[in-house]
Amino acid sequence: SDTLYLKVRAGIIGDDRIAVFLRDMSEQRRFEAMRRDFVTNVSHELKTPAGAIALLAETVGDAADDPDAVRYFAGRIAKESTRLTELVHRLIDLQKAQGSGAAVAVRPLGLREVARRAIAENQVQADASHITLQLSVDGRSLPLVAPEPGAAPEPDAVVMADGESIVTAVKNLIENAIHYSPEHTTVRVAIAHAPAKAGREPKVTLRVVDQGIGIPRESLGRIFERFYRVDPARSRQTGGTGLGLSIVKHCVEDCGGTVAVWSRPQEGSTFTIELSAAGENDAR
Ligand code: ADP
Repeated sequence: SDTLYLKVRAGIIGDDRIAVFLRDMSEQRRFEAMRRDFVTNVSHELKTPAGAIALLAETVGDAADDPDAVRYFAGRIAKESTRLTELVHRLIDLQKAQGSGAAVAVRPLGLREVARRAIAENQVQADASHITLQLSVDGRSLPLVAPEPGAAPEPDAVVMADGESIVTAVKNLIENAIHYSPEHTTVRVAIAHAPAKAGREPKVTLRVVDQGIGIPRESLGRIFERFYRVDPARSRQTGGTGLGLSIVKHCVEDCGGTVAVWSRPQEGSTFTIELSAAGENDAR
């Protein structure tokens, strides 16, 4: 990957003179290689469940007179097709996040309700895994559902960002936190105004903190890559496409923010999204 690819053109321009033009093609080569990898990965990821479904369907046919076996194989087929559907949805999300760039509508956005939407989308899964979800803003814990209108005002942190992008990002982080945590643990969504620093514009952070299996140190640098999974065998069993975090990264970066991870195996992981706070002058 460190090889330099040069396009060379030379021509005689005089009796004793030759002109040589060098063009650095490395960037383009890298880009093409990445695109090739991506297509290979996508076809592989699509072929695996598709192949499994074909095989299972055949087996169901053979086992037609054994109701238990039919039920078992039908269940496996359903699981594989869910996986296929999930993958297609993820690819669409990724496409949206990558393609948008300048197209995202960055405007003042209250993170409290963003977090509530992302939490609501994961509530069923959390309940099924006996995982408690929590929400806080600047250290004050808040109910997961917005209170009735007219109730006491709640704290919020307003950032400059695109609502859909950030909901997608936070939703994916919570989904992972639940997925990679044992039962009876807690997943916290903590929103906070970052401490003011001289010469730096005000920032807001949103953290998703879990008490899950954690991520080995040597994988930390790679988890935001498309299709990277710490344990491909495990994720194949439990679902997961290796696309979630690359979608998170794109969504957050499209809004001018950053996403970072802290993790220790057996202790848990913390994903931190940082965005610019909306200033007084940003029209609400
Ligand atoms: P996947 O669909 O496999 O979850 P992601 O892109 O969302 O793909 O995550 C990439 C990999 O990072 C996962 O396969 C998993 O190994 C690891 N990972 C992501 N989030 C967590 C977490 N909260 N705790 C432990 N491991 C995680």
